[in-house]
Amino acid sequence: MNKQQLLTSAAPHYTQDQLLELEHAIDVATNAHEGQKRKSGEAYIIHPLSVAATLVEWELDIDTVLAGVLHDTVEDTDLTLETIESLFGQDVAFLVDGVTKVSRARSGMRSLDSYLPATKDNLTKLMIAVGRDVRVLIIKLADRLHNMRTLEHMPPEKRKKIARETMEVFAPLADRLNMGRVRVQLEELSFRYMMPKDFARTKTLMDANLKRSQRKLTQVEREVKTKLTEEKIEFKMDGRIKSAYSLFKKLDRVQGDITRVHDLIALRIIVDDLSTCYLVLGVLHELYTPLFDRIKDYVAQPKRNGYQSLHTTVQTSSGQIVEFQVRTQEMHDYAERGLAASFHYNESKLTDAYKKGTLAELPENLSWIRELQTAAAQAGSDQEFDAENFRMNLFNDRIFVYSPKGDIWDLPRGAYVLDFAFRIHSDVAARASGFKVNGVMKPFSYKLEHGDTVEILTSNTASPKPEWKDYIVTNHAKEKLRLQLSRQKRALFSNMSARLKRRKH
Ligand code: MN
Repeated sequence: MNKQQLLTSAAPHYTQDQLLELEHAIDVATNAHEGQKRKSGEAYIIHPLSVAATLVEWELDIDTVLAGVLHDTVEDTDLTLETIESLFGQDVAFLVDGVTKVSRARSGMRSLDSYLPATKDNLTKLMIAVGRDVRVLIIKLADRLHNMRTLEHMPPEKRKKIARETMEVFAPLADRLNMGRVRVQLEELSFRYMMPKDFARTKTLMDANLKRSQRKLTQVEREVKTKLTEEKIEFKMDGRIKSAYSLFKKLDRVQGDITRVHDLIALRIIVDDLSTCYLVLGVLHELYTPLFDRIKDYVAQPKRNGYQSLHTTVQTSSGQIVEFQVRTQEMHDYAERGLAASFHYNESKLTDAYKKGTLAELPENLSWIRELQTAAAQAGSDQEFDAENFRMNLFNDRIFVYSPKGDIWDLPRGAYVLDFAFRIHSDVAARASGFKVNGVMKPFSYKLEHGDTVEILTSNTASPKPEWKDYIVTNHAKEKLRLQLSRQKRALFSNMSARLKRRKH
């Protein structure tokens, strides 16, 4: 991918002015990454340009594409967010900042592996909290897709780790965004690197059976086409081939017997409107015998991620079992590109919601984002749910600070060094005698800044003090301090009474 290729692929989708901006962004990013190389030995700029090309392919708005071009500059080069804002505006800077934060959060969460049992969920939660503009997550998906496509250049031990993370975090994320095609691409690539032997075996089995299935399907396809044309129904028809990963999972459920997998190829019929979908279903059931337990009406009852389609499995007169998927063009776009497609359909609506920073204004089919954020916040907090606090924790800016080992912790903006100490461990906080921030001693009254590296100095003679209350803001720290102080008081009291008792005797 080079500058010219990206501009050419973008040309049909954007205005002349927008294309000039894109060219400008490419030049700025190329300059910034000058001299940097990828693991493959290629110039680094190929990566952001590939990410941007994917975003163009997904038909995202120009700001997202510009942010794709610039997505690694703040993290990896001297370019600052301020410069990006002055050159490309607030929205692009906001998106680049979001992507940078998600990267930092991710690398931090990875090093938390040993502390947190539910890392996957925490990571997903953190990504959503940090990337609160969905477009940030879409850029991350495009980024991950390119990294997976070039994974062979990574050292073998890293490949499996990255592939696993992709399978556990990014593919489900794509699924939640209903970006079906991306989910499948990510799963296929992960599968290949995580379980190379199973991947190869499944592929071989699939190729052998595909030829046979395809031959048989030709007849069915012809019959359906003739019938639909007779009925004067306008349609497009194609075959969708099951992914190797999805086949691998299915084979497990049918004891490895591929002849029991009926949707190795499904025939997909795309029509103009919803009522025609049902009409086509009727025609199919007139032609063939429906296997009644296998009709799935995802139009009346869309999947949780918004997927809509009618699925039916039928048996032909020659005994062949075929799966059909019937949907409108809009449903099809949404099934393939999910949220990215809804930018196409609802762009102004979405952009407004983002500008106002209110997820409440998201279109109905995106309400899961809100649900997910609520669920994530509830699962992630050990306090009782409190709506005001939830809002503050999730939507107000979080800051990320680092331990000297490079572990990352997210805290609310305005948190003090003691909040950090209590997050690490309340016993560590209890023995805190001082703090070094970025290598310099700081008082207990120091408020943390995004990106600070904090070292906690401890001493065995140190103990929690009531005046610490003035230097903490998080509920977690307040609660822990309260417990420690009351325990201290009790200990003091029982010491005193023990002494008094001794004196009496
Ligand atoms: Mn990247």
